[in-house]
Amino acid sequence: MNTKNPHEVIEINHPFRVQHTQEEWEQILDESAYQILRNKATERPFSSPLELLSDTGNYLCAGCGTELFKSNQKFDSGCGWPSFFDAANKQAIVTAVDNSHGMQRIEILCANCGGHLGHLFDDGPRENGGLRYCVNGKSLQFKPQ
Ligand SMILES: [Zn+2]
Repeated sequence: MNTKNPHEVIEINHPFRVQHTQEEWEQILDESAYQILRNKATERPFSSPLELLSDTGNYLCAGCGTELFKSNQKFDSGCGWPSFFDAANKQAIVTAVDNSHGMQRIEILCANCGGHLGHLFDDGPRENGGLRYCVNGKSLQFKPQ
């Protein structure tokens, strides 16, 4: 279990500020973003154009527009998904214990809308604190600076 998690750990019925019905989310998001953000699906590795993007800018939640990561927190982990060693701020992301698939992992979610982003691991670059935020590109929206 990751002991370096800097974010709040939430319970299943945590109240998120942004609330939409399932039908509203289906209107807001395209099908694959909906499956990831709302149903906790995972996109295929190496499928996101954001994985290797190195442009300067901010990465926002595709569900609600909250700023989640900055381009200077991104690194090439080689894992196949956009990877960051830190978040834009501690409050932007909350975490939950994920016991699915026979593993115990830390799920990362948008603190504003509860959208599923990916998972937090502790095998990130040591010189940057050792965390790896492994994020589905479809859960992010890149805003160039
Ligand atoms: Zn959000």
